[in-house]
Amino acid sequence: MITVGIDVGSITTKAVLLNGTTWQSLLLPTGCSPRDAGKSVFEQILDRASLSPADVDCVVGTGYGRISLPFIDKAITEITCHARGALHLVNGTDMVIDIGGQDSKVIMIDEQGRVINFAMNDKCAAGTGRFLQVMAAVLGADVSELADLARGAEPVQISSMCTVFAESEVVSLLAQGVPKERIIAGIHRSVAGRVASMAGRLGRGKRITFTGGVARNGGVREFLARELGQEVTVAPEPQMAGAIGAALLARDRGKH
Ligand code: ADP
Repeated sequence: MITVGIDVGSITTKAVLLNGTTWQSLLLPTGCSPRDAGKSVFEQILDRASLSPADVDCVVGTGYGRISLPFIDKAITEITCHARGALHLVNGTDMVIDIGGQDSKVIMIDEQGRVINFAMNDKCAAGTGRFLQVMAAVLGADVSELADLARGAEPVQISSMCTVFAESEVVSLLAQGVPKERIIAGIHRSVAGRVASMAGRLGRGKRITFTGGVARNGGVREFLARELGQEVTVAPEPQMAGAIGAALLARDRGKH
């Protein structure tokens, strides 16, 4: 059976093609049209596998742009897809922390990957990848460099809860001559602190798996583990977790 999962996020659009037990993935920027990004990622992943849409048994769409995809068989929420994807990527996961471009979520799951409970922040940029992108721009760095730039530094306190005020705070810390690495460590701690307190309200996981693009930032992972007082495992290919979950759910659906 061949299935495809498509996750249209605010920053990136991901596709996973599952063919039996092998899978391949593709990531494209979402840009200004979620519909076009979803269509391109679907066409390109099929092209790479030398397949046509008729070869695919089921396509599941997820992410905030899922409703704009006319070619999918079913749309499923990110919460359900991330839960399923994270459990597949890290055996024994019972808590998923997903930090993407414009939201963050914590999901408690059972042994089958079913959602027991979840909390989500999609109202405020603080505690999301957007916060890191804004701060990286102020610091003249790319988000992919932040973890290396801050490695081992003592975090400075970032007091502002709001991204706009935190941006001014970072500008004035730079003007005061506070070393960049301490500011970046403070930014990582700020994101981790907000998400950890959301996780704390849900309970305690035995095995915490970190997904989403921000999981590629080792600095945020380290502060999450410190704040939670527990190990936090970054899923292999963390940004693909939602699309993997969608492809797996498409396979389940195809069996019925
Ligand atoms: P969405 O699904 O909402 O589009 P993603 O899960 O793709 O979001 O995550 C996007 C976020 O991931 C960006 O805002 C950025 O903070 C972070 N990110 C993306 N690439 C990297 C990288 N190479 N290293 C560190 N962080 C990254």
